[in-house]
Amino acid sequence: MIKTRFAPSPTGFLHVGGARTALFNYLFARKFGGTFLLRIEDTDPERSKPEYSEQILISMKWLGLDWDEGPYHQSQRMDIYKSYTEQLLKEGKAYRCFCTQEELEEMREQQRKAGLPTRYDGRCSRLTQEEIKEKLDKGMPYAIRLKVPQDRGIIAWDDMVKGHIEINSSELDDFILVRSDGTPTYNFAVVIDDYTMGVTHVLRGEDHIPNTPKQILIYEALGWETPVFGHVPMILGKDKTKLSKRHGAVGVEAYRDEGYLPEALFNFLALLGASYDPDREVYTKQELIDLFDPKKIGLHAAVFDPDKLNYINREHMKMLPPEELLERIKPFAEAKGFKVEPFHIKLIPLLVDRMHTLKDFVEMADYIFTDDFSIDEKAQTILEKNMPLDGLSDELKAQPWDAEHIEQVLRAYAQDKGIKPRDYFPFVRAVISGKSVGPSLFHLMEAMPQEMVLRRLTARN
Ligand code: GLU
Repeated sequence: MIKTRFAPSPTGFLHVGGARTALFNYLFARKFGGTFLLRIEDTDPERSKPEYSEQILISMKWLGLDWDEGPYHQSQRMDIYKSYTEQLLKEGKAYRCFCTQEELEEMREQQRKAGLPTRYDGRCSRLTQEEIKEKLDKGMPYAIRLKVPQDRGIIAWDDMVKGHIEINSSELDDFILVRSDGTPTYNFAVVIDDYTMGVTHVLRGEDHIPNTPKQILIYEALGWETPVFGHVPMILGKDKTKLSKRHGAVGVEAYRDEGYLPEALFNFLALLGASYDPDREVYTKQELIDLFDPKKIGLHAAVFDPDKLNYINREHMKMLPPEELLERIKPFAEAKGFKVEPFHIKLIPLLVDRMHTLKDFVEMADYIFTDDFSIDEKAQTILEKNMPLDGLSDELKAQPWDAEHIEQVLRAYAQDKGIKPRDYFPFVRAVISGKSVGPSLFHLMEAMPQEMVLRRLTARN
């Protein structure tokens, strides 16, 4: 049975890169009826914060990445790491390193001078039992290093995404498993967790490729079979540099707060670096689960294109029933002190094609919430023309309140006053909405309560 996992370190909010890694693991598990596990890697007490863990869980839930197992916390598994440390020490596969920072620095300095690669020279692996005992008795602090077998040769794996990868074990030194403060390093804890939790497939960022050979050596030392690895390319901004705050929002929460639908961000992230049908960009969650294939993940970095996200978000907004869309708009309206009313539903089909986000509805159509709406610059100039409005309300009131009749009345009125309709209509639009652009004026008026429109026309008169 397939088991995947997402293993964030709670050192910040859930970044879109992390969310995409989580999402690929989620899709993989769902596609094959497997299990998706969540593990919080909080062994670094200085950088990990419980509020970040909380936030990561909230973002995952919002995005629809529901996990089946966990969240496990590494900080609660210290005894487990300790027991495997003891096992490796006993079997001579790991050893205590008493070297101080100064000693290590001096060693590296000498290597640099000799033009050699800087690496641990394994000196503590050659300590005698007596020397070790003496140092322990003195209470000297120590780290624990893996004893990398000298003759191990090529370490290789078939990466689900990248294909065959190999490195020579001679490039690795005896790296640290447990720091002198007793905390396990990422590589050590991750192996113990992935194995003991039964993880079968590990999909993670390609920045972890250098860690994978080390992890393979730890699996071997413990006599365990490795999971299948897959390394996903990075995400870049449009300028082809690593995606960062400079490119705008990078946290999942920020997208929620901007008014992106979780299903749209899900859709967008699932396509970030994976290609299925070049002519299609909008998918439901189920379709993405059915389509998912790690072989379709590209080898090269994916570019985060905000315009594409906007497009996908709009398409998902259009897929929602208008009642549901209005429900989703509600918190954004309320944040501005506006109240959503039943008639607003009629404006959804008129405005959705102009919206990128839920927030846009509130910003573009503030005039349906309040008489104190904003007036755009162009509308301001139009309003200065002070065209006639007297009697218009009465004429409109005498006819049925639908687009067709509204148009007839406005045309006749403009003609009567000797004003070209194409000059007059923008004036009416500016009076009732404060905007110089918008949906068809007559349909807009029809969708607005008659009383609201007439009130504005009369007030201006
Ligand atoms: N805690 C690691 C990270 O956030 C997990 C890496 C992995 O998936 O193995 O980068």
